[in-house]
Amino acid sequence: MPQPPAADPSPVAPLSGRLRFASLGSGSKGNATLVSDGEAWVLVDCGFSLRDTERRLARLDIHPRQLDAVLVTHEHGDHLRGVGPLARRHGVPVYLTPGVWLSGRLGEVPKLHWITPQSRFTIKGLVIDPITVPHDAREPIQFRFEAAGRRLGVLTDLGYPSDHVAEAFYGCDALILECNHDPHLLHTGPYPPILKRRVASKWGHLANGQAAALLTRLGLDRLQRIVCSHLSEHNNRPELVLETLTPLLDGDASRLTIAAQDHGLQWQTIV
Ligand SMILES: [Zn+2]
Ligand SMILES: [Zn+2]
Repeated sequence: MPQPPAADPSPVAPLSGRLRFASLGSGSKGNATLVSDGEAWVLVDCGFSLRDTERRLARLDIHPRQLDAVLVTHEHGDHLRGVGPLARRHGVPVYLTPGVWLSGRLGEVPKLHWITPQSRFTIKGLVIDPITVPHDAREPIQFRFEAAGRRLGVLTDLGYPSDHVAEAFYGCDALILECNHDPHLLHTGPYPPILKRRVASKWGHLANGQAAALLTRLGLDRLQRIVCSHLSEHNNRPELVLETLTPLLDGDASRLTIAAQDHGLQWQTIV
């Protein structure tokens, strides 16, 4: 008598292979994002002091020596401050563009790997695409990650949503997206005029409305998690971000999260 097929013992892919991410903190005082597929453990940027980084990693159950890489997006201090100290103290390999290296802000690094923008590379099974972005650094990039059929975009420090960026980040399942400022708060806020002009320029940072406009071009149906990041302390407020983005999601804010400067964001798994 024919037997019915045996039930699949694990109809859901094991959690260990899933793409996941966490934030150590995000904002102008420091940025760092953890990304993992359960095999590779990668830090994107490290804008905190060594001691602070160790403390923030411990909060997410990670020891610095577990890290396979620190990937650097650009040489601004809120992304680079802790990279050199972390690499020298714990031997973590650093991946960066020649532009970041030529800024001369990194110091000696024991294990250095070059990134060529738009050229895919892998760390263990984790697939990484470095994407050029408009920002006032020497060779600024942001990253798209892929593992187990899922995609994560990490996209901050963006002057404006260029077509290149919109194409590269289309079809992500989760996105860490800069929502830097509200134009009215920036205009009336405490920054000196030259800094206001820099932030608002095409080589500065993304306003809430620009983030919203970009989101509509990225395939909203597929995006299960949007993490609003790099919020300005003086020129933005979380409620303004949510007010701007929620209407795009039919009024459902449950897909939105904010990565805070102090507390970052706990591990999120992309299902
Ligand atoms: Zn930044
Ligand atoms: Zn920057």
